Amino acid sequence: MSPEEQVVFRTEGLTKVYDTGGGKVHALAGIDLRLYARELTVLLGPSGSGKSTLLNILGGLDRATAGHVWFRDLELTSLREAGLTRFRRDHVGFVFQFYNLVASLTARENVQLVTDVAKNPMTPEEALELVGLSHRLDHFPAELSGGEQQRVAIARAVAKRPEVLLCDEPTGALDSKTGVQVLEVLRQVNDDLGTSTVVITHNAEIRRMAHRVIWFQDGRVNKIETNDTRIAPSEIVW
Ligand code: ADP
Repeated sequence: MSPEEQVVFRTEGLTKVYDTGGGKVHALAGIDLRLYARELTVLLGPSGSGKSTLLNILGGLDRATAGHVWFRDLELTSLREAGLTRFRRDHVGFVFQFYNLVASLTARENVQLVTDVAKNPMTPEEALELVGLSHRLDHFPAELSGGEQQRVAIARAVAKRPEVLLCDEPTGALDSKTGVQVLEVLRQVNDDLGTSTVVITHNAEIRRMAHRVIWFQDGRVNKIETNDTRIAPSEIVW
């Protein structure tokens, strides 16, 4: 594959301005970026520097004010709501800081919500095995630890075999031990399924397990680094 064929996302002058009444906030001030297939990319930068805004636009949850973003050949910035919904359903898994599981459904049923409507999904059992939760299939979220709940959320996100997995502070609510377990699952999904994975984090050490690290500052990309030697999640100093 040529380098261009390995580009999953490409942005050009991507801009997001929020008009808050009290003035305009340039959440993204013209971003030119490429993200690559099968890579695990970490986004770092101070709070308010635009990381979540970018992630939400890449995932079709939000719209840019100006500029362009492509998922492979599909220009997301040209799509209407229905097109964005289809893009999300077919290609994107999301993982958020606070899991967003349905409290009245078991782990298996939470994953089933997605597998019931996906085109070529794993079974809920396969997805939960992937995240090491085969022994928790019939537990409700309240019966699971924070790390286990996040692993259910990851199983739900990857069960439809999405090409990209977008994670906003996936370990933000976890202690170091369970945080490492969640990172190990993300790394395994990236390795085994080849899912292009983007992780926002405040823990700069997590960059050491990434293929690519992108630093944000004031709605701009400040610096991009690639890692030749990636460390295992268990080696991350929390
Ligand atoms: P980060 O993820 O790096 O913390 P965000 O992308 O969440 O940054 O936010 C970037 C900027 O956009 C911040 O100044 C934030 O306050 C602003 N912002 C984000 N969402 C909204 C919104 N819905 N309305 C107004 N301002 C917003």
